Amino acid sequence: MALEHVEIGDYDPLDLTCLRCGGPAMLRFVGMCEPCTSQIRERFSGEAREIDAVYVPKMNVTPNAVALKDD
Ligand SMILES: [Zn+2]
Repeated sequence: MALEHVEIGDYDPLDLTCLRCGGPAMLRFVGMCEPCTSQIRERFSGEAREIDAVYVPKMNVTPNAVALKDD
């Protein structure tokens, strides 16, 4: 049985544009930049308790950009 094995080290970061914030980002694959990835993970992860230990969100957090997107 042949399984495809992909090593992240086989891919060099490319000068791409983040699909979420549109900012420039050095990425190995088309997608989101690191800050966006972190935000998404914190927002949607079911394991946020672990993050809460080191990240205390302000009460007045930034509105959810995805939820407010109305176009
Ligand atoms: Zn981004």
